[in-house]
Order: sequence, then C-alpha cells, then structure tokens
Amino acid sequence: MKLYNTATRKIEEFKPLKPPEVAFYTCGPTVYDFSHLGHLRTYTNSDVLKRTLQYLGYKVKHVMNITDVGHLTSDSDEGQDKMEKGAEKRQMTVWDLAKTYTDFFFYSTEQLNIKKPDIIAPATEHIPDFIKLIEVLLEKGFGYETGQAVYFDVKKFTDYGKLSGQKLEEKEIGVREEVHVDKEKRNPADFALWFKRVGRFKDHVMYWPSPWGDGFPGWHIECSAMCMKYLGETIDIHGGGIDHIPVHHENEIAQSEAATGKQFARYWFHNDFLLVEGQKMSKSLDNFLTIDHIKKRDIDPLALRLLYFQTHYRQIMNFTWDALYAAKSAYERLKAVIVELKEKEKKINMQEEYSEEGRSRKQKFIDAISDDLQMPRALAVLWETVKSNLPAREKLHLLLDFDEVLGLGLKTIEKEIYDIPEEVIKLAQEREEARLIGDFARADRVRDEIHKRGFAIKDTDHGFEIARRK
Ligand SMILES: [Zn+2]
Repeated sequence: MKLYNTATRKIEEFKPLKPPEVAFYTCGPTVYDFSHLGHLRTYTNSDVLKRTLQYLGYKVKHVMNITDVGHLTSDSDEGQDKMEKGAEKRQMTVWDLAKTYTDFFFYSTEQLNIKKPDIIAPATEHIPDFIKLIEVLLEKGFGYETGQAVYFDVKKFTDYGKLSGQKLEEKEIGVREEVHVDKEKRNPADFALWFKRVGRFKDHVMYWPSPWGDGFPGWHIECSAMCMKYLGETIDIHGGGIDHIPVHHENEIAQSEAATGKQFARYWFHNDFLLVEGQKMSKSLDNFLTIDHIKKRDIDPLALRLLYFQTHYRQIMNFTWDALYAAKSAYERLKAVIVELKEKEKKINMQEEYSEEGRSRKQKFIDAISDDLQMPRALAVLWETVKSNLPAREKLHLLLDFDEVLGLGLKTIEKEIYDIPEEVIKLAQEREEARLIGDFARADRVRDEIHKRGFAIKDTDHGFEIARRK
C-alpha cells in the first residue's frame, strides 16, 4: 500500500514496524461542543484507512483519545480551557459537558458507520500517565517549572519544527487578542505540559494534585502519553486534521522523542479542511453543520459518507447541499441495485471464487484504495461493477466485498427499507437530465412512464422525490 507521509512530504510504500500489526493513533475530539461535518470527514477518512489496512490483511490496533480537559481556546497556550468555557456558556458542569459531547461524538460516528477504536482514552482518566511523562522530560532537561506552569523547552529539542518545516523564528506567537504572557517563560514557543491552578486558572474546576502543585495537564502531553502507553514508543501511523500539523503534532513529536530518544510516529496521516458552500464553517455564519442537520432533511448519513469519498482526503472538500442531494440519489440507486441482486441471489458465499472479470474488477478496486486511498477511483470501480454484465451472484459478491472498505452498510440493506425499482430511479434521473437541458416534452413523457409503473415523482427545492402512487 502507498500512503502519503506528511513527515517526508512524499507518497511512500507503507511498511509497518511489526507486520502484520499496525499501531494506529488518531487525535480524538475535544468534547466541548458538537462534532461537525469537518471533524466527521477526518474520522471517516481515518476509518477508511483502517478498513483498507484490514482489507489488505493487516491487524490494526487503533487508539484514540478524548480531550476532556486542558485544550485551551488557542492551540498554543492562550485563552481559556475550552471545556470550562463551554460549561460556563451552557450552564453545565464540565463533567456533564464532557459526557454530553462525547455521547454526541459517538452517536455521529455510529451514524456514519465509523468503526470504534480498540481503545478510547479519556484524558481525565490518565492524569498519572501525564505526570510520569512530564517527570521524565524534566529529568532529561527538556522541561522547566515557573510559578504558573511546567513548560517544554523547545530550544532543547533540536528537531523542533521538523513536521511542518517551520523554523522556530517563523512561528506565530502571541498575535491573539487575549495574549497571556508568563514572564518566566524562556521562549515564546515553549508550551505548557502542566498548568498550575494559580493566576488565570486559580478557579479551574478540574484539577489534580501533582509534584508541581494542583493543576491540570496541557493538551499535547495527553496524546504523547496515551499513545505511547497503549501502542509503544514508536507507532506506525498517527492521524489527525491538517490544522494539527504546526502546533499540536509538532509538540507531540517533541515530547515523545525527547522522552524516549526514538522516532515517535513513522507515518503522519493528515486530512484537509471542509468548507460549507465555499465558506469556512462557523457559528456566526450559521453554517455549522452536524449530523442532525443531515438527518433533519431526511438524508441517510451514509449518503454523506458516500459524498466524503468523492474528494480525496488530501484535498479541501467543498460541501454543498446540492452535492449531498446528488449523493443521496446515488446512494438510493445503489441500495436499489443491492435489493434487486439480493432478490435474485438469496444466499451468497463470500468464499466463492471470482471469474476472470470479477478478479480484475477486485484488483482495480485494490489498486485504487492502495494508491494513497484514491476513493474517487474506488467509487468509479464500484459504479462500473454495478453497470457490468457480471452474473447477479458475482456482482453482489463483489459489491459486498468492496463494502468492507466503503462501509456503506450494503450487507444489511433489506427490501422493506427500499422498494423503488432501479428502472424507476433510472427513469427519474433521465427526466431530471431532460429538464436540465430544457427538453420538457421528453421530461413529461418520461414522467408518464414512471406513472405507468405505479410511481409518482415530485420536484422539491433539492431535486426529485419518488413515492408509490396512492
Ligand atoms: Zn493529539
């Protein structure tokens, strides 16, 4: 398998340290607000990476943290703790806030058929591990204590900045409105390993005893400590959003490699941003979308999963409702195909051998996913297979096989869920095409065809809807 590695800026042949095992870590959510479509895109793509590795025969051990303390409103050490700020805003305790948004996160990922990590590690349950790692860093001379915090001394770690290629002098520090300066800090880029419950944090609700007094951990130390605890000092793949490269992941590398003297992560897997109708998602623009916004419009979240695959993970994705409605139609068509095939073939033996054509289609699919997860190409193979003249049994077998990676829930689709025949959906699409080019006479003729088959078609703001005629 070939995979792009942010650390080398190259597509490399993926070789795990101890094949067939793969140690895989992804940065989890900070549970102070609803997970949105941008987060979910990252988790969906990480899921596809994991499924691809499993499909190719690797045994993946996947660990993810839950940040329920210590992530300040800026990724560097400025501002308030996101958790405490969120709790204040919503008049909840921090603990309730963490539970509410952790639940919402897993509810969202379940809707998208994202497999759960093998180990889910909440930061608040690992405080002794963070303290132990901070002690090692202090012993080795990579950290120092001030009246307000314990910091990592970035100047002591000569490789600092190697992931982003950013030089220390170039790092933007302190250009935010709410600049907090600890005068005892040696270098502006030094980051906190432990915040003391003093000064601006004197009323911090979440705090634990430590050798440096009561306080709470910094965000970055969480991932280093939990990742190494469960996966070892050198892991195979570390994943996350592209926004984590310059600060969070740089800091994770510095802490982990300073403590162990070994390479921390061998491959860095980063997902690009998601825009909504061409704009950055934000609460003020009222385009902050969660899985519930999708469900409210009666769209199956798995149609969103299909839509995610249409953009390569290293490209910016522009989410539009039009594109989602198109994905919805495509997903319904796929479901209809599966139902039809299942009616023809009641039983399917997944061990059965493929014909030469079947084998070549499977190989094309493998080539696409092993080429740095070229999901748009993998989808093309899927649709070509749908259209092919393969016998029903083999076609179904192949589509269900592809679904091990795609995760579109094809195995569980039953007739009762979906009973509009494929030919009707095809006619509806034909009518839509005719309408788009202004051929209304043809559009009307096709509509009559649809009627004859016992179905009605309705035009809505977002495309057409088909229902059985009453
Ligand atoms: Zn992390």
